[in-house]
Amino acid sequence: MRTSSRYPFIILSAILGSLTFHSCQSPQVNSDIANKPDEVGDTFFHVTAKNQTDAVAINDDAADDPCIWVNSEDSAQSLIIGTNKKFGLEVYNLTGIRVASYPLGRVNNVDIRYNFLLNQEKVALVVATNRTHNSLTALKVNSNGTLDLLSDSTLKSNVGEVYGFALGQPVNEEVLYAFIVSKTGQFEQWELYDENGVLGGKIVRSFSFDGICEGIVADDYTGMVYVNQEDTGIWKIAMDPTSNISPELIVKIEDVPNIVADLEGISIYYASETKGYLIASSQGNNSFAVFNREAPHAYLGSFVIDDKEQIDGVQETDGLDVLNHNLPGYPHGIFIAQDGYNMEKGQVVNQNFKMVDWADIANAFNPKLQVSSTFNK
Ligand code: CA
Ligand code: CA
Ligand code: CA
Ligand code: CA
Ligand code: CA
Repeated sequence: MRTSSRYPFIILSAILGSLTFHSCQSPQVNSDIANKPDEVGDTFFHVTAKNQTDAVAINDDAADDPCIWVNSEDSAQSLIIGTNKKFGLEVYNLTGIRVASYPLGRVNNVDIRYNFLLNQEKVALVVATNRTHNSLTALKVNSNGTLDLLSDSTLKSNVGEVYGFALGQPVNEEVLYAFIVSKTGQFEQWELYDENGVLGGKIVRSFSFDGICEGIVADDYTGMVYVNQEDTGIWKIAMDPTSNISPELIVKIEDVPNIVADLEGISIYYASETKGYLIASSQGNNSFAVFNREAPHAYLGSFVIDDKEQIDGVQETDGLDVLNHNLPGYPHGIFIAQDGYNMEKGQVVNQNFKMVDWADIANAFNPKLQVSSTFNK
């Protein structure tokens, strides 16, 4: 259902239905070619994970989307907060050990922002789409890393089924937005605010894309939001809900042979206020596509996370996140990806999240990608 006809969307699904994704060489897991692009003329760069989290507590396709809470007092105490879409949130330390889990229902995607003024306190706010209540579930992160539930089922969405999610906090503005997409492509933008000391929210914009969307990320500096339409490409829209700029399809899957649907998670590596990268999961060929953060968002290549002795590679990633902060073991930032096929001693076990040193990714590319641990985002 379209709730607004403001945006003239091109219907691509019919066109895409007749296309075959041409000559997509599926990346091979081969540690012999680590850090070299494949020699078949495409551009898969190879890295391995530095660490991995404990497996999620429920089997089958359960782990989905991570975010990272940076402990500003002691970065070694930072946490990975991951969704288990059949249970709730699972929380891991930077060595991958599960330190807490919160039974919240069918939370799907999760994001975090800081310095949200609530009850006269600046809090780190973790928000997830929750399919149990078709709502936004919000928690605050305490200074010791524990999470307190702020809102469970009260922030009800009007979309058919909440699915993808991101927060956006435009710099120099006292506003926090939440972005929801549904399995049918309905897009719903919320403004979240303090309402007499408790978390309140209202819907400020809604419209529809022409198909299933999930991965979303907001660029707080440029005021843009990127939405992955799973079989189509990456849309860019303005974060400002009153903007009359039409959504722009900045990446079409059919234009990038190294991308094979579905496009899933997406996140931003901030190298400075304007520089950096958009990174999206190309689920159909177990790889990650990297684009320039600056328009016109040139495609820079793709990487895969290969097996290594102690830690298996990454396949069929749903959600991912990346951060440029200097964290112990990850001086130029960390990349985290859900692993759809987590292996232990040759056996498929419950899914988990893999952690990769951003410097390993940056150095694997040719030319190398930027690293920054000084820009504080
Ligand atoms: Ca999955
Ligand atoms: Ca999906
Ligand atoms: Ca997902
Ligand atoms: Ca794996
Ligand atoms: Ca493993």
